[in-house]
Amino acid sequence: MKRQVPLFADGELDRAAHLRETAPTLWGLSQSRVIAFWGLKPLVHDDGGLHLLSSADPVLADLAGPPVFLGVDGDGDALFAADLSNVKVTGGPADPSFRDETVQRIDGVAQAGFCDLRQIMMSLSPWEAEIAATGRAMFAWHEGHVYCGRCGTQTQMQMAGWERLCSECGHKQFPRTDPVVIMLVTHGNDILLGRSPFWPERMYSLLAGFVEPGEPIEAAVIREVHEETGVAVTDVRYVASQPWAFPASLMFGCRANAKSRAITIDPDEIEDAVWVSRERVMSIMAGDDPDIARPRSGAIAHFLLRLWLADRLE
Ligand SMILES: [Zn+2]
Repeated sequence: MKRQVPLFADGELDRAAHLRETAPTLWGLSQSRVIAFWGLKPLVHDDGGLHLLSSADPVLADLAGPPVFLGVDGDGDALFAADLSNVKVTGGPADPSFRDETVQRIDGVAQAGFCDLRQIMMSLSPWEAEIAATGRAMFAWHEGHVYCGRCGTQTQMQMAGWERLCSECGHKQFPRTDPVVIMLVTHGNDILLGRSPFWPERMYSLLAGFVEPGEPIEAAVIREVHEETGVAVTDVRYVASQPWAFPASLMFGCRANAKSRAITIDPDEIEDAVWVSRERVMSIMAGDDPDIARPRSGAIAHFLLRLWLADRLE
């Protein structure tokens, strides 16, 4: 096994939360580094890896909003995320699907462009992946929280991006992440895969669903599997987590044992579900199955499947 934790889950970013109040004073210093975004797409080198800028770089003169302080780098210098969505780009509009392969470029930055994080995530170091995901999730949260949820007044960013304050009623909002369970359900030598009607042809994956308010993770696994396929599961175990900033999920990777095999799908949730043997999963992972495509590298489903094939899920 190459990776012991899923992509985005290494936890290498020093978030330096104690500096958030004073962090805006570090903006503009040449040693402060910046991950720039356009339309939630990070700036990436043409040969792979993030293209970080100095916060004194003139291309950062026209931001769509205040920069967000992400933490400090290995040298102790400040690390910010900046939103350049107001800046004119070349390369046409982004593709709104989840396979956006377009690249947008701006004047003043050579050999780098804005790329969808899902397209380039496998080219990033664990630290780069974490700062890109954190910046993306933060700007997506700010986009959706411009107005106060209590009184509707426009809110202001505080604490270098880590809260928004309503000056009218005093209500504070903090960045949130949405818990999602994703589960590898086994029955003997087989696992349960399903597909959403919105997915590309031949794509199947582990079942997944949002955890509801007031619901523990284990109950969410049991409920989601039953709702989507009619299969009853037991012995739910947590395996690993993965922040998934598309836009704001935290995936709780779990395993569970099925008590039954009969499948009755809920067509409002999924289009198909099948039991797949270990041998066939190996063939799928090798890209050799005619009916089921290999799962996308980098997603936690891929990680859980590889753990299971290696008998390391316990
Ligand atoms: Zn308010």
